[in-house]
Amino acid sequence: MTALAEPATAPRSPFDLTGRRAVVTGAGRGLGRAVALGLARAGADVVLLGRPGAQDGTAQALEAEGARTEVLDLDLADHDVIGQVSADVLAAGEVDVLVNNAGIIDRADAVDVARDDWDRVLDVNLTGLFLLTQQLGRPMVERGHGKVVSIASLLSFQGGIRVASYAASKHAVAGLTKALANEWGPAGVQVNAIAPGYIATDNTTALREDPARSAAILDRIPAGRWGAAEDVAGAAVFLSSSAADYVNGHVLVVDGGWMSR
Ligand code: NAP
Repeated sequence: MTALAEPATAPRSPFDLTGRRAVVTGAGRGLGRAVALGLARAGADVVLLGRPGAQDGTAQALEAEGARTEVLDLDLADHDVIGQVSADVLAAGEVDVLVNNAGIIDRADAVDVARDDWDRVLDVNLTGLFLLTQQLGRPMVERGHGKVVSIASLLSFQGGIRVASYAASKHAVAGLTKALANEWGPAGVQVNAIAPGYIATDNTTALREDPARSAAILDRIPAGRWGAAEDVAGAAVFLSSSAADYVNGHVLVVDGGWMSR
């Protein structure tokens, strides 16, 4: 029997990100680090945007995998510098993918939330995210292609407990995702979000250290375990890739089944 000859060039997987330049915010730890690694393993060049020094370990991990990596400093609470940092990113090359990952949480009873703490959460999770998306999204719209993937939350749908500012900011991220999808979709730019469930990162340390809350959360997760940061990477690769060219304005839950209960 004669063996079939392999085609000279294998067809490109729709999930392949080779040659794409992806920006990830807050990639020094947690979900951002796992997403940056996932994008790099799918072939992307990755630009890590975050606070000074925080991205260095991730940059080393990506470079060890052979990925082209750039690091730029950005504090998303410092809105005045977002225009310049975005210009620096764009001066070095086109951006094909923006992953808005950086985010903070503040836990307090709603009646006790201080105005400064409220502002801090909204400044990073919403206003900084919007201003960066506006700067890096504009050239995508002009060029006619690009992907924006924001990390939303189950608290884009639910209210949570003692996290009013966070829930408000993440509901807003879902709304912004849909608003931008409507505006930018006709130009060939897809804007989607991922709503991770309960993932074991620094963001959820307080919950995991509270035995009653931790047990109650675990009891509701059909997967029977907390998520790992790596559980979110595949969804980020999908939404960053041409496999998701007809997916727009969607908030994809990656939650071990939590929302099905
Ligand atoms: P994390 O480990 O606390 O990481 C937060 C990341 O955001 C860090 O890299 C941090 O950088 C960065 N960041 C915070 N403030 C910043 C600022 N002002 N400027 C730039 N970067 C800033 O938490 P995580 O769980 O990985 O969270 C990542 C995203 O997932 C967040 O948007 C979070 O709301 C969302 N999320 C998490 C969960 C979960 O269960 N873990 C669930 C739903 C959604 P530094 O190292 O410099 O502080």
